Amino acid sequence: MAFLPQTVLLLRGVIYSFIRTYTIPFLPREQTVRSAVECVGIGLHSGAPVSLRILPASPGTGIVFRRTDLEGFEIEAVSRNVARVSYATSLMKKGVLISTTEHLLSAFIGTGIDNAVVELDNLELPILDGSARPFVEMIQKAGVRKQRRPRKYLKICRELELRDGNKFIAVYPADSYSVSYSINFPHPLIGKETFRVELSNGSYLRNIAAARTFGSRQDERAMRDMGLIRGASRENCIVLTRDGIENGPLRFADEFVRHKVLDLVGDLALLGKQILGNVVADRAGHAMHTALVSRILRDKTLWEEVTHPEREEAPYLEGDRQTAARSSA
Ligand SMILES: [Zn+2]
Repeated sequence: MAFLPQTVLLLRGVIYSFIRTYTIPFLPREQTVRSAVECVGIGLHSGAPVSLRILPASPGTGIVFRRTDLEGFEIEAVSRNVARVSYATSLMKKGVLISTTEHLLSAFIGTGIDNAVVELDNLELPILDGSARPFVEMIQKAGVRKQRRPRKYLKICRELELRDGNKFIAVYPADSYSVSYSINFPHPLIGKETFRVELSNGSYLRNIAAARTFGSRQDERAMRDMGLIRGASRENCIVLTRDGIENGPLRFADEFVRHKVLDLVGDLALLGKQILGNVVADRAGHAMHTALVSRILRDKTLWEEVTHPEREEAPYLEGDRQTAARSSA
């Protein structure tokens, strides 16, 4: 009996590593947050102060933004509401704007949240630390609630490739969701970087969520003159100088390309469904990301809607996985 605790620990370790390695990313049912969570911050481009609250929503809602400063006007986070995209993705409906949606939408995909109402009292989401990590932490704090409605996936059946000069974006059929992104920035710390990730088994949380946005000191004046990056600071973006960065250290050696993956995942959330496909991007940006979304939605021969009722319910968040392992052991 003396060795029993070790046996239990060993068993727990084996089960934990099994779940960690073999958990299927598919969730058969939709999910929302368990309780409301909020934060305050400023918009990256507007510099405007904003309070943001994430609330649970009923099955089938999707992600809906609500402007509490405009009598609760609601804008659904879907492709048809995409307004203008340059340095950020903005949604607009009947003249009402919601700006810089990509980092929060990315966090929802990464944590498996299908339904939520996002209240904000200004026109731009808070930039926080420039990554999706604070949003992921808010969702983890709120907890995740599984819902009854089967989750629908948009499964890519046929490839689609878009080119614009030397920019490229494409999606290919696959049974899971993966992203491969390449960038080529003329900077000694960046150059050509490629990052490929399978968005399953917690890899979004480990490899993507913490990657911060970035900008260069040299472009700062021109961007501010365009009314952009008024809220930018060393606390919310990586500031590139001519040959280095002002606010190191980097969170990953290739943090820049990982942030592009984060943005892409957030923009593809505007499909309104979780995607099953392999997305490949080279020097793309928000405009190409959202163009891919609208091209996919327009051509129904490119995809089919599938559910995975036969799959066992799979944990998604790290916390859930540990809980599952503990109760199994
Ligand atoms: Zn970004």
